[in-house]
Amino acid sequence: MAAPTIKIALIGNPNTGKTSVFNQLTGLNQQVGNYPGITVERKQGSVKLPGNIKGTVIDLPGTYSLNASSIDENVVIELLLNRNDKDFPDVAVVVTDVENLKRNLLLFTQIKDLEIPTILVVNMADRMDRKGISLDIPYLEEHLNTKIALVSSRKGIGIDALKKLILDYKNLSTEPCLNASSIDPEYFNKLRNAFPNQLLYKLWLVITQDVNFGALERNEIQNSSFTKSKSELKRLQQKETIKRYQFINDVLKGGLTVDSSKAKDLRAKLDRLLTHKVFGYIIFFCILMLIFQSIFAWSAIPMDFIDESFTHLSSWASKSLPPGKLTELIANGIVPGIGGVVIFIPQIAFLFLFISLLEESGYMSRVVFLMDKIMKRFGLSGKSIVPLISGTACAIPAIMAARNIENWRERLITILVTPFTTCSARLPVYTILISLIIPNRMALGFFNLQGLTLMLLYLLGFGGAILSAYILNKILKTRHKSFFVAEMPNYKMPLFKNVAINVIEKTKAFVFGAGKIILALSIVIWFLGSHGPGDNFKNAEAHITQQPQYMNLSQDEIDNEIAGYQLENSYIGIIGKAIEPVIRPLGYDWKIGIAIVSSFAAREVFVGTLATIYNIGSSGDDEATIKQRMDAEINPATGDKVFNFATGVSLLLFYAFAMQCISTLAITKKETNSWKWPLIQLFGMSTFAYIVSLVAYQLLK
Ligand code: GDP
Repeated sequence: MAAPTIKIALIGNPNTGKTSVFNQLTGLNQQVGNYPGITVERKQGSVKLPGNIKGTVIDLPGTYSLNASSIDENVVIELLLNRNDKDFPDVAVVVTDVENLKRNLLLFTQIKDLEIPTILVVNMADRMDRKGISLDIPYLEEHLNTKIALVSSRKGIGIDALKKLILDYKNLSTEPCLNASSIDPEYFNKLRNAFPNQLLYKLWLVITQDVNFGALERNEIQNSSFTKSKSELKRLQQKETIKRYQFINDVLKGGLTVDSSKAKDLRAKLDRLLTHKVFGYIIFFCILMLIFQSIFAWSAIPMDFIDESFTHLSSWASKSLPPGKLTELIANGIVPGIGGVVIFIPQIAFLFLFISLLEESGYMSRVVFLMDKIMKRFGLSGKSIVPLISGTACAIPAIMAARNIENWRERLITILVTPFTTCSARLPVYTILISLIIPNRMALGFFNLQGLTLMLLYLLGFGGAILSAYILNKILKTRHKSFFVAEMPNYKMPLFKNVAINVIEKTKAFVFGAGKIILALSIVIWFLGSHGPGDNFKNAEAHITQQPQYMNLSQDEIDNEIAGYQLENSYIGIIGKAIEPVIRPLGYDWKIGIAIVSSFAAREVFVGTLATIYNIGSSGDDEATIKQRMDAEINPATGDKVFNFATGVSLLLFYAFAMQCISTLAITKKETNSWKWPLIQLFGMSTFAYIVSLVAYQLLK
C-alpha cells in the first residue's frame, strides 16, 4: 500500500520568507487558485520527502496572529479550527524571520495551542552573522516544546533538515505553550464545564473571532450565557497577547543573544533617504518612469512579433485550409482571438518582473509608507500607485498588480478605477481625433496644442480614477476592517527563483484565467461583425458589382466597397444603426456607432473599423487616407463636417471614460471572482462617459 500523503500547512507573518520556503519545497509543482467565494489566493504544491513519501503543502496567507482582522486571516483560522476540513494539516510549519523572532513567535504560540503538531522554521539564517545573532537551538526546542529547522530559504540551506522533521511529524509534542485558562480562570472554567469535549483555546477563538468551526457553530456559543461585552472580550484578548509575549520573552532570554555592535546602520540611512518627504517621492517617480520606459520599449519588439506572427498564421490558415465556415472561424475568429491574448504576455511579464524586484528588494514597503497617507484619503492604498500608473501601458497587468494590496476594500477600489488611466490602446484613437480637430499650432510660444491636448487627456484619465475612487470610498461598505501594520523589512538582493516563479505564475493566471473569456468574447465579436441577417449581407458582392458607379474601380477598391457594405449589414452594423438615436445627442452617426460597438473588443479597433466603413480597406495602415476620408465626411442633415470640433471633443471624452475593453472586464471578473464588479465597471464608466460627452457636445455644437 502506498504511504499516505502528508498534509503540510505553511503559516507565518508576512515577509518572513514563507513564499521562498514554499518555493524551495515545491519548486514549480504549484497550483494557484482562489478560495471558493472569496478572492484570497490559495497556493498549494507538492513536495517529495525522503523515502519517496509525498507531501502536499498549502501556503496559507500571511498573517500576524490568529486574532483575525482580514479575510486572509480568517482563511487561516477557519482551516486550523476545522479538523474535518479536507485540507486540515497533519503538521503545521510556522515560518519566522530570525531578525523578528519575538514578534513572529506570537503566531507560533497560538498555533501550538491548537494542539496541532508544529515545526518552527527560523528563516533567514544567512543574516545571523552580519547581525550578530546567535541561537541556542536545543534550549529553544526544549522551552518551545517543538522541533526547529534553521533555514536560509535564500541559499537553500536547511531545507533537507526541514523535510526530515516533516517526515517525523508524529513525534512532535502537541502540548500548548500557554495555559488558556490563565487568561481568566473563572470564565474559562465555566467554559470547560459547558463544553467538556472541546479544546479551550479553540472555544476562545470561536468566541472572539468571526469564524465557525465544524462541530460547534459560533451561534451556539454566542447564544449561550458565555457572551461577554465587546470591550470585555478586547480586554481579555489584550491580556492573552501580553501573556504570550511574557512567555516568548522568557524563552528568548535563554535562547537568543544579539551582539548589537555588529549590526550595520546602512539600513537606517537608506530608509531615511527613501522615505524622505521630498527625495523619497523624486526617487520613486524616477524609478517608475524608468520602469515604464522599459515596459514600453522592451515589450514593443515581442508584441510586434506576436502581432505579425498571428496575422501570418491567420492568412496562412485562410489560404491553406479548405474554404468554408470552419476555416473562417479558425482564420478570423480563433487565431486572432488567441493572438489577442498572447499579445499581452510581454507587458504582463515585464511589469511583474519589475514589481517582483521592487517587492523582493524591500523597496516596495518604503513606497507604501510614502504614499499611504495620500492614497488613503481616496480609499486607496499606498500600493495602488503601481496599478494606477501601470495602467498607462495596459489595464490588464495593472489590475493584476493590485494583488499586492492586502486590504480587500482598497484592492477592489483600485481594480475598479484603474481602467480610467489612459492605456496605450486609446492612443491611436486619440492621435487621429486630435489631428482632426486640434490645429497643429504652438501656444504660448512653446506648447504644441496637439501635444497639450494629449497630455490633458492623460491627466483627465488619472483624475477620473482618483475622483471615482473618492466616490466609491464614500459608497462602498465592507465589513472588513483595515489593519495596516507599518512594517519595514530588510533590504535584500532579490531572489531569482522567487522573481521567476512570480512572473510565470502571474502570466499563467492571465492566460488561463482571463484568456479564456477574452478568446470567447473575441469570437463572438468576430461572428457579429462577419455575419448578418437577410440578403443584404449575403449578396454584398452581387450588390456592389451591379452598381454602375463601381464599374471602373480596381479589384482592390471593389473588395473594399464589399467589405464596407458587409460590415454595414452585419449584426454589428445593425447594432450600430440601432443605437444611433441614443448616440445622436453626443454628435455621432451610425458609422461612428459601428466603430464604438466594435471597439468593445479593443479600443484600437476604432480606426480600422472606420476605415472599413469608409471603404478604405481594412488593411489600411495608411493613416493619411483614413484621416482625409474622416475629414471629408459630411453630415447630410446639416451639411457640416461629421468630425467637427464638438463631435471630436465628445468622442475623445467618450473614449477617455467609457469601459470599452472586454479584456479588462475579463480580468476584473477573474480578480474579483464575481461578475458583479465588471458589470458595475461597464455600466458605471460608460454612463459617466455618456453624460460627460453629452454635456460637452451640447455645449460646443
Ligand atoms: P513572504 O512575504 O513571507 O512570503 O516572504 P517572501 O518569500 O516573499 O520573502 C520576503 C523577502 O525575504 C524577499 O525579499 C526574499 O528574497 C527574502 N528572503 C526570503 N528568504 C530569505 C533568506 O533565507 N535569507 C534572506 N537574506 N532573505 C530571504
